[in-house]
Order: sequence, then C-alpha cells, then structure tokens
Amino acid sequence: MFSLATDAAPGRSNEDFVLATTDLAVVVDGAGPGDDCAHGVSWYARQLAAQTMSALIAEPDLSLADGLARGIHAVARLHIYSCNLSSAETPRASVGILRIGTESVDTLTLGGCTVVVDTDAGPQITSDHRAGAPAAASDPKIVASGALCNSYPYTWVRRAAVLSDGASWLVDQASGYDWPLYLDLLDQHGPAGLIQHVRSVEDSDPTGTQYHRAELQDDASIAHAVLTGRSHRSTGPDSPLDLSRTES
Ligand SMILES: [Zn+2]
Repeated sequence: MFSLATDAAPGRSNEDFVLATTDLAVVVDGAGPGDDCAHGVSWYARQLAAQTMSALIAEPDLSLADGLARGIHAVARLHIYSCNLSSAETPRASVGILRIGTESVDTLTLGGCTVVVDTDAGPQITSDHRAGAPAAASDPKIVASGALCNSYPYTWVRRAAVLSDGASWLVDQASGYDWPLYLDLLDQHGPAGLIQHVRSVEDSDPTGTQYHRAELQDDASIAHAVLTGRSHRSTGPDSPLDLSRTES
C-alpha cells in the first residue's frame, strides 16, 4: 500500500505529479520552460505519470524501463501534431518508479527523483544527481541510455519510498539527515507530515546558508510504501546478504 503527498513550491503551480496503485508508484517532477508546448509542464507531468502507469498496469511483467519508454512515447503521440517536440523548450521531467512485486521490489529513476529501498543491509538508493542528468522529454530512447534500474528480493525489503528532489534535498543535497533517520520521520509523520517538515526547514533557512540546496523551494512529492504484515528485521537469516526466501 502506498500513501502519497505532493506540495507545490509556495506561489507556483505544481509541476510534480504522483500516482499509485496498491503496489506501484510513479513520481514525475516536471521541468523546463515548456514554451513550445501549448499544454505546459504540469500537463506533461500528469500525462507522463498516467501513461506510464497505464502501460505498467496493462502488462504487469513489463520492465519499469519499458513501461516508462511506452509512457514517453504515448505522451509524445498526444501532442506531436500540435507542439514542437524537437524544441529544447519542450517540457521534460525526472521520473521515479517503485514496484512492490511478490518476488522482487523494482526501482527506476531517470534524473533527479530518488527511490530509496530500506533493506536489512541498509538503505539502497536509486538516484541520478549528476549535473545535466538525463530527463524524459519526447524521445523514449532516453530510457535505455539514461535510466537507472535496480531490483531487490522482496524478503529483503523493510520499507521504501519515491521522492522528487524537492522532498529529498534535505538528505542528498544538504546532508541535514541520513536516510535511516529520514525514513523514520516518514514512518512517523507520513508523506504530508514530512513535506511539512521540509517546508519548515526551508522557512527557517530562507537563503540556504545553513542547508545548501539547488532550489530554495521546489515542488515536493513523496510516495511511501507501507509494507504491511512484515515486522522489521524479522525475515530470519543473520546475514543480510542471504537471499534465501523465508516464510513471514
Ligand atoms: Zn504540447
């Protein structure tokens, strides 16, 4: 089960979009001027989340990379005749996807979204914070060359989340928190409560002198997987690298 929250940067329209089923979450962080698209960045983010989700629901065995590639292709088809998709000004987006399967937990990021999967071996991060990291736009081939994908045995996983960079910066840009503590806060306060906390930190440091960050305030989104029926560290083997499946 996922719980979700998204919050626009104060005074702006939200260019993030988050969507989930019980076992699949997609977070899209739209960007760019979007000047050569009549629909705009928020439309692009919503459509990319919806079309990617649709592809992955229709074929549950599809890889996350193929699902995202189909999503990008489907969105391009929606406005290829009305907008200049080859323009550098076309909307683009970072994407994070998390799928809780019965055998494995799969992650994908393209660009600055973060997927964190907490395991008995500690938090495992799928993220690409390189300057100039690739982003989704209108060419599905970017997924093959630019997306980062990981997969973890289901029995390893204690908790997991997808975050746009407006929600993860406190850990991965400012080093204000480490992931275990941040995930504890997420467990305690939920996605909306954690984003509220991020906003209060931003308000306390409006110039970014104490907590360095790329944007002083950005749209923030979190999809939090609540893995019910499994208690922490209860899956048996002493070695966190033991991949053998145990009954829970
Ligand atoms: Zn358009």
